[in-house]
Amino acid sequence: MGLSFEISATAAGGGRRAALHLPHGTVQTPVFMPVGTAATVKTVQQETLEQIGSDAAGAQIILANTYHLYLRPGHQLIRRMGGVHRFMSWPRPMLTDSGGFQVFSLSELRKVTDDGVEFRSHLDGSKHFFSPEHSIDVQIALGADILMAFDECVETPATWERTRQSMDLTHAWAARSKAHFEAHSHEVPWASDFPGRTQSLFGIVQGGMYADLRRESAERLVEMDFPGYAIGGLAVGEPRDVTREMIARTLEVLPSDKPRYVMGVGYPDEIEEYARMGVDMMDCVLPTRAARHGLLFRSAEPGEEGCSSPGEHASATAVRMNIKRLEYAEDQRPIDPACSCLVCRRYTRAYLRHLFVVKEPLGATLNSIHNLSFYLDTMSRVRGSLVDAVALAVDPQSDCNRNAV
Ligand SMILES: [Zn+2]
Repeated sequence: MGLSFEISATAAGGGRRAALHLPHGTVQTPVFMPVGTAATVKTVQQETLEQIGSDAAGAQIILANTYHLYLRPGHQLIRRMGGVHRFMSWPRPMLTDSGGFQVFSLSELRKVTDDGVEFRSHLDGSKHFFSPEHSIDVQIALGADILMAFDECVETPATWERTRQSMDLTHAWAARSKAHFEAHSHEVPWASDFPGRTQSLFGIVQGGMYADLRRESAERLVEMDFPGYAIGGLAVGEPRDVTREMIARTLEVLPSDKPRYVMGVGYPDEIEEYARMGVDMMDCVLPTRAARHGLLFRSAEPGEEGCSSPGEHASATAVRMNIKRLEYAEDQRPIDPACSCLVCRRYTRAYLRHLFVVKEPLGATLNSIHNLSFYLDTMSRVRGSLVDAVALAVDPQSDCNRNAV
């Protein structure tokens, strides 16, 4: 068995509170997954990752990138080290992408055929070939709890015809990924540690910015019966209302009893919005990448305007702050007075600004810890409110219902 998914509450807007049981542990959803590209969430050690967030509960699940680990140190080396969990000493759940997104971002360096993609390494120009089968072999060797079918990511913008053609290729590759995974799932490096357990392969819905193609892609993948589904090819420069629309149209088709993952999003208010629409999992490099550039997220103070537009649900608005600004040079406050992460409990804005200005590596570390904590706190708050919303809806003693009568 790969995973089981237990939904405990579904709110009116579609958001669900669930527990995703995986071989390396249980993940409470909706969840944000920090990205550990090269088997490291940049600048943050694993011991700290286990303690981020205001509740110090840490990251429940992290990502690693197949393309990067395939090139260095190589998936066979990681297999010999016992798989990526053991290699990086991360005992909690993990997910690997298929490598497709990175390979397709090498537009000058690749050649696509029905069989797969030939590409040149961004490191040394050496030639490589990824087929759906090879991507699955690499991901089995890495041994994350969840692995992804190999998909083609169409360029943006693309015509309907071009998107359709690319989507058909993605579907053919999804079927090949699934067949290959089913034949080889027993080869995962931790097979003997978790008897009877396997990785779980998710299919990826494509279809560009066309609602009819998104629906068709979801329908085709659902016919193939994956244990979970991802929505790929979004947040690639399209307007936010298009992203939202594509997610909404796809969620209508995906089975409600399986986990749903939107890849590569987004800002704090976006992950909150999508979680409330019924997305269970999200990942993004934004909190860590922004942190390394001195861009921090914090909650808005009363009367302060944030960067998000107020939605249907009252959300704690996120404010972006650039720590290198002179105004923080003698600011004794923590980044976010409402945050009780490791960094906000101990360090001032003045100190963080100093570290950034003199380019001390600790600055990137502390900024990353806070930004990741802010993202985890956002999802923790959403999970709490999903439960509360349902309790309110069914509680006959609640004020809302009494007023309605
Ligand atoms: Zn903090």
